Amino acid sequence: MADNMYTPQNPVTQYPQPPFEHQQQSAPGDVHAMKPEPDHGETSYVGSGRLAGRKALVTGADSGIGRATAIAFAREGAGVALSYLAEEQSQAEEVAALVRDAGRTAVLLPGDLQVEQTNADIVEKTVAELGGLDILAIIAGVMPTVSSIDDFETETLDHVLKANIYPLFWLTKAASKHLKPGASIITTSSIQGFQPSPDLAEYAVSKAGIANWTRAMAQQLAERGIRVNGVAPGPVWTPLQPAFVPNEKIESFGSEAAYGRPGQAVELAPSFVFLASQESSYISGETIAVTGGTPIH
Ligand code: NAD
Ligand code: MG
Repeated sequence: MADNMYTPQNPVTQYPQPPFEHQQQSAPGDVHAMKPEPDHGETSYVGSGRLAGRKALVTGADSGIGRATAIAFAREGAGVALSYLAEEQSQAEEVAALVRDAGRTAVLLPGDLQVEQTNADIVEKTVAELGGLDILAIIAGVMPTVSSIDDFETETLDHVLKANIYPLFWLTKAASKHLKPGASIITTSSIQGFQPSPDLAEYAVSKAGIANWTRAMAQQLAERGIRVNGVAPGPVWTPLQPAFVPNEKIESFGSEAAYGRPGQAVELAPSFVFLASQESSYISGETIAVTGGTPIH
């Protein structure tokens, strides 16, 4: 039998380790241009009905962690609406096909989440096409690197906050009237929100903000029975990296993790499934570190 996510093995050597080949992409990046190809669970994620009948909206669903989460949600029994940028259409269609292969409904929702109206529109289309909404997984994000304060530009910070922070408020506000007790909102922070690198100040501010928004919103929504949690990934082998990080850093990408390798997107998906499912009923306001052994707190 081929290996899957349940095959016991050494996690340190389970996936490719640096050094990696030189590679550079432009944002938003393409999973098929990555060498080696990332694992989003296409053949390795095995579901068991943990989200049977649920209705999920996943942002950043075409690639990386969002793609793995969309595949996992579908294999756990959820219908999935996929949010992504228009230029990522072909990657999103691949994910939609995998969702349908799992016997679930897929909804394709291209659009720029920096525009407030897009956020309201994708929530309404999700509700219309899936017949409701009870899992909101906010995974989309951008990560410009700026190595000197002398190169700081207002537009960069505006872009990071518009793409990484504003949609938390816009999507949640739009979803609010549809979310019932038992619903789950899941955000995506980063190890950078806790232990920032010097050249990621704008991004690190946004990722610390996401973890703190998660704590605040969890308390606000507790009385309505809606849980709000986050995932803080360490280095993960996704197009975000070659799209935003200068070339030479890709070679050693992941070597800073205790495991000495980057995570694969499929290794993030189970945390999103756990936080989406009723299994995590007594957890709200928490951000789970998925970092290959590096502490964040
Ligand atoms: P990714 O590039 O595959 O996914 C990011 C997605 O964000 C894109 O696919 C795109 O669809 C979406 N996006 C970006 N700007 C958007 C906009 N204006 N409107 C709509 N969608 C937009 O990379 P990923 O690594 O899977 O990133 C997913 C999340 O994980 C991000 O929030 C990222 O900050 C976070 N994260 C990644 C890493 C890592 O090492 N890869 C580490 C920590 C946190
Ligand atoms: Mg993408």
